[in-house]
Amino acid sequence: MIYLNGKFMPVEEAVIPVLDRGFIFGDGVYEVIPVYSRHPFRLQEHLQRLHKSLESIRLDNPHSDDEWRELLTRVIDLNETDDQSLYLQITRGVAKRDHAFPEKTVPTVFISSSPLSPPRDEQLQSGVGAITATDNRWLRCDVKSTALLPNVLLRQLAVDAGCTETLLLRDGLLTEGSASNVFVVKAGVILAPAKSNLMLPGITYDVVLELAQANAIACELRSVTQAELNEADEIWITSSSKEILPVTTLDGRPVGNGKPGPVFQRMHGLYQSYKEQVMRAPS
Ligand code: PMP
Repeated sequence: MIYLNGKFMPVEEAVIPVLDRGFIFGDGVYEVIPVYSRHPFRLQEHLQRLHKSLESIRLDNPHSDDEWRELLTRVIDLNETDDQSLYLQITRGVAKRDHAFPEKTVPTVFISSSPLSPPRDEQLQSGVGAITATDNRWLRCDVKSTALLPNVLLRQLAVDAGCTETLLLRDGLLTEGSASNVFVVKAGVILAPAKSNLMLPGITYDVVLELAQANAIACELRSVTQAELNEADEIWITSSSKEILPVTTLDGRPVGNGKPGPVFQRMHGLYQSYKEQVMRAPS
């Protein structure tokens, strides 16, 4: 069951006009929110990021946070599985095709849910493969825009190489993955690029940093060079759907000793405990 512009319905019944600016221009923003045991994870943070994305594309937020909570709760309730992945998209609505903003349009609001599939045990035990590529996206990668063609093309490079993710380098520095943030471990210290316009401020990225700080695991937010990436003891990718995944081969070469490292094991344990706390909390 989905939500579209004021109505709840089976996804097969949901249609939008072909002149929707999301379809024509990719003129919209989105969020993906994991739900564990029917509890949305870090909901306030996702709603805040949504608000910022909307502000960045100069689209008024069509709902207050309380209204969003209500709509999302209804969608969760209408779907079967306890663990879900909510997808929320807002576009600038339907108008005659013209690049400039239309004068008066009602934004299109869409929320769907699919069963959440956390990383498989085998991926956690062996890690996944990644490749590197030049980050050829625009300079507002902090906006969670639905215009994802560059990300789609970059991700496909990984798939073509039999890998899970493409790690992106801009001017020789790590930015993020095609659909994830990236952490590197060297000599026991976690390194990650600081937030900027060149990467999406990941909700999972923030959780990892908070857990590192709360557990006195050394962490530095700074530029990470291509050489540091190539010589890393550990590399992780993070996202709401992948959680934290260890990367054990990069461009066909082993990362560290080619196995998920000790800092990953520790962080993975902390992340799972944190999730359990969230699931136990009253809704
Ligand atoms: N960067 C990009 C480009 C992404 O698409 C994602 C996942 N949506 C992330 C980072 C990770 O963000 P989050 O942890 O909020 O899922």
